[in-house]
This record gives sequence, structure tokens and C-alpha cells, in this order.
Amino acid sequence: MGPQHWHKDFPIANGERQSPVDISTSAVQYDSALKPLSLSYDHPTSLRIVNNGHSFNVEFDDSQNKAVLQGGPLDGTYRLVQFHFHWGSSDTQGSEHTVDKVKYAAELHLVHWNTKYGDFGKAAQQPDGLAVLGVFLKIGSATPGLQKVLDMLDFITTKGKSTEFTNFDPHALLPENLDYWTYPGSLTTPPLLESVTWIVLKEPITVSSEQMSTFRKLHFNSEGEPEELMMDNWRPAQPLKNRQIRASFK
Ligand SMILES: [Zn+2]
Repeated sequence: MGPQHWHKDFPIANGERQSPVDISTSAVQYDSALKPLSLSYDHPTSLRIVNNGHSFNVEFDDSQNKAVLQGGPLDGTYRLVQFHFHWGSSDTQGSEHTVDKVKYAAELHLVHWNTKYGDFGKAAQQPDGLAVLGVFLKIGSATPGLQKVLDMLDFITTKGKSTEFTNFDPHALLPENLDYWTYPGSLTTPPLLESVTWIVLKEPITVSSEQMSTFRKLHFNSEGEPEELMMDNWRPAQPLKNRQIRASFK
């Protein structure tokens, strides 16, 4: 069932703060009150990498404040629980957010939850419960940090497979410049909960075409089922409705 059908089971698909959106740079408002992002991924505790049948997640131990996101548009402390990617069937599409309607080859989502709610599940029900840091992947030179992740994909080809993946530092997937856009939105896969403060970095990281083809070797299907290659697992841009996208930079 593609994104155009989600509203039947999840009526919030047509809600007031759905994601992703197109970031129209002429309509964005610079907000001098926005603070710099503070990423404390000093003791990252990645545990596992899992094919969940729509992407793959690198999961973190979020039982303590080991890797946290603070500052920016956020109040309080948000703990990293997992990251995943969205990508295309070719290098010309794949990102969920677009910038002036331009699509990137892929988009990384680092998912964090507000520690004041105690766990991810409770936080996901709250309007300020989640913070997702989005990073675009643009075709260029290979990013070595990304290769460490891609080297694991052979072990999790089909849905439900997972393997140990420890000591991965997500800093390796961030650009130098942490200027960002921010707006209130939602999860981009069902249940599409409207609980996400989106923080999308302006500067992409680079990915080689060879690295992109590695993503497309994964399968949506479980082992033994007909092969369906995992690609185009992105939701298209949703109406901005009554929202203002703010920028941390001029
Ligand atoms: Zn995502």
C-alpha cells in the first residue's frame, strides 16, 4: 500500500502538520532567536542494524543520555533512538524533503525523543515528543562513515533480519555546517503521528553513485518471498498548510 492509500487506515495522513514538505527558500523566515544545535553523540551506543521491511534502522541504546540532541528550536533533551534512510530507484530522487522542489538522492533521519516523556512510545503521542534531524545525501564523493553502515547491508538483505552493529558514531554522517531549517511536522510513515519537530540541515553530505546502488540491493520482502528491491521508500511532499518554516541562518 503506497502513501496515497495511507489516509484510509490513518486519517491523520491529511492532517494539519504532515511531513515531509517542500522547503521553499523564498518563503522561509530567518529567526535570530533560534539557537545553534547541540549534538552530544560522545558515547554513542549503537546496538543493532535491522531491516524492517520499509528501510533499515541502526538502533541505539536509549536507556540513558548517551547520545542527545539539544538546542536549536528544542526545549529540553532529546535522546537518539535510531537512524534510517529514504532513497530512490535512481540518483535523481529519494529524499523526502525537497528544497525549491529539488530532490536529493537520499535523506538520513536521526530520530530522537523528548526525555521528559520517559520513553519513545509515550513521546510519539505528544506534539513536542520527537525531534528528527534530517540530512540530505547528494551525489559526489563517497562518505567513509556511510560505508561502515553500507558494509552491513549484506547481512540484512530481507525483512526481519538484523545483526549486531556497535560503536558507530553518527557524527560520521553529519556535514561540517549545522545551519538548519525547522518546522512542526509528523512521522513520514504510518502511523504518521504529528509529534515531530523537524530539523533539516541545509548542507548535504555526499554519497557516490556506487554507494547509492548498495542501498538498492536490500529487499522489502522477507526471506523466501518474491523479491522486491527496496527503493523509492520516500513519501512525497505534503501541503504546508498553516505552517512557517524557520531558518537558523540568513
Ligand atoms: Zn524517515
